[in-house]
Amino acid sequence: MQDPGGEPRKIIHVDMDAFFASVEQRDHPEFRGRPLVVGGDPDGRGVVASCSYEARAFGVRSAMSTAKAKRLCPDAIFVHPRFEAYQEASLGIREIFHEVTDLVEPLSLDEAYLDVTKNKWNEPMAGKIAIRIKREIKARLSLTASAGVASTLFLAKVASDYRKPDGLTIIPPEEALSFIEKLPVTKLWGVGPATESSLLRIGVRTAGDLRALSPESVRAALGKNGMFLHQLAHGIDPRVVNPHWERKSYGAERTFEKDMTSIGALEAELRELCLEVSESLQQDELRARTITLKIRYGNFETITRGITLARAIDSAERIYDEILHLLQEKTDAGIRPVRLAGVSASQLLGFDQPEQLWFELPEFL
Ligand SMILES: [Mg+2]
Repeated sequence: MQDPGGEPRKIIHVDMDAFFASVEQRDHPEFRGRPLVVGGDPDGRGVVASCSYEARAFGVRSAMSTAKAKRLCPDAIFVHPRFEAYQEASLGIREIFHEVTDLVEPLSLDEAYLDVTKNKWNEPMAGKIAIRIKREIKARLSLTASAGVASTLFLAKVASDYRKPDGLTIIPPEEALSFIEKLPVTKLWGVGPATESSLLRIGVRTAGDLRALSPESVRAALGKNGMFLHQLAHGIDPRVVNPHWERKSYGAERTFEKDMTSIGALEAELRELCLEVSESLQQDELRARTITLKIRYGNFETITRGITLARAIDSAERIYDEILHLLQEKTDAGIRPVRLAGVSASQLLGFDQPEQLWFELPEFL
């Protein structure tokens, strides 16, 4: 993205290293240097929320079941998450970010984009700012972060992931295209397994392969989403750092006292949840493009089914329409007992934000 003067933006993406696990190792010296898994009970149905680099060496990954993590690494220490501690560390990090600029867009507790084109430190070199941010995080919070510096959000994020932990990767604008060239297409924003296989079918493995195609053939193979990817492959990313996107989603869920077997009763509960979600969206003057239904069956199996709409919505009625459709088409509610139901709204848009910055990402969920 270029500013009106035509100068490239200076974007930093900061991502904490193994965030929850690092906070635990910081606060518990006896955990340091050891494989550590933060998550649910390894003997229950929990999943890994975060794991130390020592645990990753055994193949343990986030979102894996803790039972599997235990099989891979029986000697790992398993602890439950302490969200207050992570929240506190997260606030500490954001405080540092806001000392640099107010153009901060948090993506989660441990990740944010910063636009430092203009900054409160009056430092023209974005690389120097990134080094100083990493140093401040280390000094004040005793935690490490990896940072990526580039002229677009997309590349800054790819860069922060390039060397981890404690990494720093700078992609100057003039090197952007050669950096993108070799990237596997899966690194492009929004490419999931379905898009990847459509791309493989037309012989595209890397962003360089994609760039070599004509816009017409990309559109033919992938539709509108393909045009966005084609732009990314050319180093063009229309997204800007938006400090108002603090909230990434709004949700409400309910665990029932008794497993719900009647679909009618379940629908009534969902209608209320939709109303709650709609009210909070409207209160914050936001609309959502993605609506997600979460169902936990009586045996604790949990599924989420979502839909991404061409137009963002905020009314309870519209949200409920989508939820009802998902419930009927994509779940076994009414056949299997349901223990918990949830509704969430994400891909948020302010009322003043144009829709055309958003593209169809059919496999976003
Ligand atoms: Mg992280």
